[in-house]
Amino acid sequence: MIDELLANNRAFADGLPTRHLDVRPSRQLAIVTCMDSRLDVFAALGLDHGEAHVLRNAGGVITDDVIRSLAISQRRLGTREVMLIHHTDCGMQKVTDDGFRSELQQETGVAPAFAIESFVDVDEDVRQSIRRVRRSDFIPHRDRVRGFVYDVDTHRLREVDAE
Ligand SMILES: [Zn+2]
Repeated sequence: MIDELLANNRAFADGLPTRHLDVRPSRQLAIVTCMDSRLDVFAALGLDHGEAHVLRNAGGVITDDVIRSLAISQRRLGTREVMLIHHTDCGMQKVTDDGFRSELQQETGVAPAFAIESFVDVDEDVRQSIRRVRRSDFIPHRDRVRGFVYDVDTHRLREVDAE
């Protein structure tokens, strides 16, 4: 599979002029979202290269590592807004914290040090993420943090009220 992608990259690079973009995203925006393969962040939001940071993990969870990236994004690379995008039909709704944790422990003999961060209610999960960003002193700009649910079938975003 990776060989196929390498061929795709050659075609991609052949179709683009050589250029250097600023490391600082031009829209001064960081997006935190799920790793879900159905969400093409750049296409869905009309983003181009060089415009925004995109941080992804299973569920779009605000983990310590996401806080680390947001701290760098804002303190060194000039971003000012945070957009959180969770989505319908997420894989993290199909596991439970206790169930997945014990599965990992039983199969490997090691209990994971990380939180699983499964969820049931996607809106509440978005609100939880907004709160975590807003409560982190490591992130200087917290006045423009907004959360959304992306519908993987209709491709539309719906905003979730923070409170
Ligand atoms: Zn997901």
